Amino acid sequence: MRWIVVVLLMLGLGTGAVAAEESPWDGQTVLVTGANRGLGLEFARQLQAAGADVIGTARKPEKAEELKALGVRVVQLDVTDEASVAALVKELDGVMIDVLLNNAGIFLEYGKFESADPASAMTVYDVNVLGPMRVIQALLPNLRASERKMIMNMSSGLGSIANNNSGGMVAYRSSKAALNMQTRTLAADLAEEEFICIAMSPGWVRTDMGGENATLSPAESVSGMLSTLAPLTPENTGTYLNYDATELPW
Ligand code: NAP
Repeated sequence: MRWIVVVLLMLGLGTGAVAAEESPWDGQTVLVTGANRGLGLEFARQLQAAGADVIGTARKPEKAEELKALGVRVVQLDVTDEASVAALVKELDGVMIDVLLNNAGIFLEYGKFESADPASAMTVYDVNVLGPMRVIQALLPNLRASERKMIMNMSSGLGSIANNNSGGMVAYRSSKAALNMQTRTLAADLAEEEFICIAMSPGWVRTDMGGENATLSPAESVSGMLSTLAPLTPENTGTYLNYDATELPW
C-alpha cells in the first residue's frame, strides 16, 4: 500500500496542483458582471477555486466585501451607465478576456400584462438587454485577443417564448427573450471568428432574485453552468442551454 502512496506523491497527485492543472478553467481570464452577490458571486468563487483569473464587476466595489475577500480583481461597472462602461474599457485596455459572463440582471414586477408598468419595463430592458449589449461591444477587442472567445448571456427559462403558457412577468420575460435574440444575432455575426455565444438559464435559484423557495442553491446552479460551458466549442454557438446542459426551446 505504501508504495502506491509514494508513486502518487511522485506524480504530484493529492497535492491539489494536479487538480488545478486539469481544470478547464485553469489560467482562463473570466469577467463576471454583477459579481458582488447572488449567482455572480458564486461564479467568482467557483471559477477562482478552479484556477481562473477572475475579474468581478460591481456597481459599488467599496461595498463588495465578499467579492473582495476572494482576492479576485474587482472593477466598477454599472451596465446602464455609458461613463462606467467607458471607464471599464480604459481600465481593461490590453487585457485579454477568454470568457465574458454577462450575469448582471434585474427583476422588478410580477403580475399580469394589464398591470405592467411601462416605465419599470424600460428600466428592466436597460439593464437586462442593453446592459449586455454595451458590455459586449465594449469588450470585443479584449475577447478577440483570446483563443476561447466565449460570451455567456444570462437568460432565464422565463425568456422562452415556446415554454410560456403561464403568462405574467411580461417585462422580465420580454427582456430575456430579447437577450436570447441578441445572443443568436451575435452568434451569427461572430461565427466566422469562431466565437462561442450562449444564452443560458441558471434554473430557479435561491438568491435575492430567486427567493428562498427556489429549488437550487447558487452552488448547484453555478457548478452545473460551469460544467455545461466548459466543453463547448464554436460548433455550439447560438444555443440556449439550461444549467444542466439540456437545450431549451426558444
Ligand atoms: P441578484 O441576486 O438579484 O443579483 C443581481 C446582480 O446584478 C447583483 O450583483 C446586482 O448588483 C447586479 N446588477 C443589477 N443591476 C445592475 C446594473 N445596472 N449594473 C451592473 N450590475 C447590476 O440576482 P441573481 O439571482 O444572482 O441573478 C443573476 C442573473 O441570473 C440575472 O441576470 C437573472 O436575471 C438571472 N436569473 C436568475 C434566476 C434565479 O432564480 N435567481 C433565474 C433565472 C435567471 P447590485 O448588488 O449593485 O444591485
